[in-house]
Amino acid sequence: MNARLDDVVICPLCDREIPPAQRDAHHLVPKCKGGRQTEFLHRVCHRQVHALLTETELARQYATVEALLAHRELQTFLTWVKTKPAQFFAPARKSMRVRKARR
Ligand SMILES: [Zn+2]
Ligand SMILES: [Zn+2]
Repeated sequence: MNARLDDVVICPLCDREIPPAQRDAHHLVPKCKGGRQTEFLHRVCHRQVHALLTETELARQYATVEALLAHRELQTFLTWVKTKPAQFFAPARKSMRVRKARR
C-alpha cells in the first residue's frame, strides 16, 4: 500500500509492471465488507474486476488473487490486456448483472 513511486510494482493479475500513474489499490475483501488488505493493480485491470464482480461476490468468492485469476471472463480480459502497453487504459463496461446488483 505504501510502495514508493520509484518501486517496481507488478500487477498480480496480468503480471506486467504498473506505471505509477496507473496504480490502483484493490481491496481483496471490499472495504465496505471490512477488508483491509490491498494489492496494487493496473487501473484498467482493477476496473475490469469491478465491472465483472459485485462487492458481495468479491467478498464471498473472489477475495484472493488466485480466485480472481480463475475467473473465466477475467482471464479473457487479461489475455487481451497483456498485448497492450503497460500504460494502456480504457474504461471497462459494467456487465448488466453487476449494474443491476448495484442499482
Ligand atoms: Zn477494487
Ligand atoms: Zn494488470
